[in-house]
Amino acid sequence: MPYKVPFVDVPAHFLSLQEEILKTVTSVLMKGNLILRDELRAFERNIAAFVGTEYAVGVNSGSDALHLTLRALRIGQGDEVISVSHTCVATISAIVHAGATPVLVDVAEDFTMDMSKVEEAITPRTRAVMPVHLNGRACDMRRLADIARQHELIIVEDAAQALGAEFDRRKVGSFGVAGCFSLYPFKMLGAFGDGGIITTNDRRIAREVAVLRDYGEDRETGEVLCFGFNSRLDNLQAAILNVKLKHFDTWIRRRRSIAEFYREGLADLPQLKLPHFPGDQYGDVYMNYAVRAEQRNDLVAYLKRNGIEPLTPLSLITPVHRHKALGLDHVSLPMTEAIAKEFLYLPICPELSDGQIKQVVSCIRAFYRDQSASA
Ligand SMILES: *Cc1c(COP(=O)(O)O)cnc(C)c1O
Repeated sequence: MPYKVPFVDVPAHFLSLQEEILKTVTSVLMKGNLILRDELRAFERNIAAFVGTEYAVGVNSGSDALHLTLRALRIGQGDEVISVSHTCVATISAIVHAGATPVLVDVAEDFTMDMSKVEEAITPRTRAVMPVHLNGRACDMRRLADIARQHELIIVEDAAQALGAEFDRRKVGSFGVAGCFSLYPFKMLGAFGDGGIITTNDRRIAREVAVLRDYGEDRETGEVLCFGFNSRLDNLQAAILNVKLKHFDTWIRRRRSIAEFYREGLADLPQLKLPHFPGDQYGDVYMNYAVRAEQRNDLVAYLKRNGIEPLTPLSLITPVHRHKALGLDHVSLPMTEAIAKEFLYLPICPELSDGQIKQVVSCIRAFYRDQSASA
């Protein structure tokens, strides 16, 4: 049985753009523009302009955006990079693949890096810090910039979940030396497949990532500058993303209005902590509406039985440092572990109707009403 309220609705998303997308796909295919062509360059310019940086370079995933950026910065063997455990494991894999050592700190109530924990994690080997703007909310970039300046650390932003999110009215991806975005289908701006992009004001980094993504070759001279990778963003995906980007602000507004709807419908329930946090310097885009709930697992099962599909990604329910095979189990991160036991994501994709959001609200209310009646 399909869900009455699915977590994401790919057909509905496609149908809302069908005509524009099919026209674009036809035009790109008729031109034969498949690899590193005009559509990709246009998308790179569009993202740079949107984020507010000089350059953007498309790659084939958010994972590679992080990995290739670290390589371009010559961060590797012997270097430590501070990040968080409550994140997609790809954040930490990128650090390890670059040859560096991840140092994990705890998150705060708002699911992002706890800035009061960063300084105690700094050692003489620390080169960089990788804040993760999780769930579409920026980290406290003012505080982090201060720390980074004092200790001469490089900031590389993992903005995979936060295209469009702001701090101090500036878009994430424009604070660090580079910002790394994922274009995975279910991120803020999704391709119909994998993709990623980095943003930067540093010409050298932009150029170096462009070389690394393309076998290490300088396309113009044919000279091979290093042993590179194949990590290009598909030209066809870029063409589709250019179409989607025109609608992006509307989608962000829709996410924000669904978040408000949830706030109005659920704020009085003592069993829930909703993701509305203080600080008017933040411009959240709600990639995930991440709630902390009492009896989380029962609530998730109840929602599913009632045709509603929340998400509790298995790899986050066990935080990165608790995955035995990774060998990072020597730290204690109390907030990360508390959140792992309690969080779930409510459906918030822009295609959902007000009626569907209402169903989610009533179903959650019914669950806790039943619980207190039977207690
Ligand atoms: C999705 C994600 C990544 C990885 O991006 P991919 O495009 O899937 O490789 C990295 N970091 C975070 C926080 C993510 O959510």
